[in-house]
Amino acid sequence: MKIITSIQDMQARMLLEMQQGKKIGFVPTMGFLHEGHLSLMEKAGTENDIVVASIFVNPLQFGPNEDFETYPRDAQRDTKLAEEVGVDILFLPNVKEMYPQKQQIKLQVTDRADVLCGQSRPGHFDGVVAVLTKLFHLIQPTRVYFGLKDAQQVAVVDALIQDYNFPIELIGVPTVREADGLAKSSRNVYLSETERAQAAALFAALEKGRQLVVDGESNPVIIVEEVKEYVKQKTNGKIDYVELLAYPSLTKTTTVKQMVVLAIAVQFQHARLIDNLLFNEKGEIITTFSRGK
Ligand code: AMP
Repeated sequence: MKIITSIQDMQARMLLEMQQGKKIGFVPTMGFLHEGHLSLMEKAGTENDIVVASIFVNPLQFGPNEDFETYPRDAQRDTKLAEEVGVDILFLPNVKEMYPQKQQIKLQVTDRADVLCGQSRPGHFDGVVAVLTKLFHLIQPTRVYFGLKDAQQVAVVDALIQDYNFPIELIGVPTVREADGLAKSSRNVYLSETERAQAAALFAALEKGRQLVVDGESNPVIIVEEVKEYVKQKTNGKIDYVELLAYPSLTKTTTVKQMVVLAIAVQFQHARLIDNLLFNEKGEIITTFSRGK
């Protein structure tokens, strides 16, 4: 595995790969890798000639009171894991390399950032699309892989690719979970023992909501209330939101029809956890999302 830290070296190497007509699978991450990240890299490996992964904790997507400084980092361990899973090129830039000067041009995510995490974390998705635009230009991937654990992010990347004509295929990959259902996340290390035990209730609550749809309920208000009630009973966390929206437009809907996302965010003492389920009008789980070139 080749480790590259400079933009110049990355551009030179990617030019070589492109000249050889290689199909390039790209997995952007913030590191502290777990099985969720590795599943994206593995999938990229089966569908492309080479896999490029990046590890960069992007300051632009953190709010002033968020955990940029304390976000968990372990480059040595990540490098070993990436190599083991078959990453060919690992891009590890530092903040100065990515942002040598103050941003002079900003992209702003509109509709798809007005809800869910976009509403609770103003500017977060603007920071996400800023870093992705740079990375997409640098790496020029054939396909990009994102986890549906962050379903809103997938919807925003979908809009970025459409609006700005990136010739890239977007692949949304199923959420990898712990045995009790908790979605794997780098931030899970911040949970106390008690919170960790309670955190499984997020997935259980979403499943309860989905089960209502399987049983014939189609009113989002009733489904959302049931999910909230369950989380309140089972955890000491503070519910940030529970919403049921059309997917990937993330627009409000008065009835469950076609694809929807049932999404939740809960603030524990030192970790804000998010999770979601995608399903159709029958309550059947949808585990993948893709958008062709
Ligand atoms: P992050 O490092 O948190 O920015 O995540 C990098 C990528 O890994 C994103 O596309 C995430 O959606 C994805 N990811 C994070 N957690 C999981 C998980 N539990 N299952 C699948 N993908 C995940």
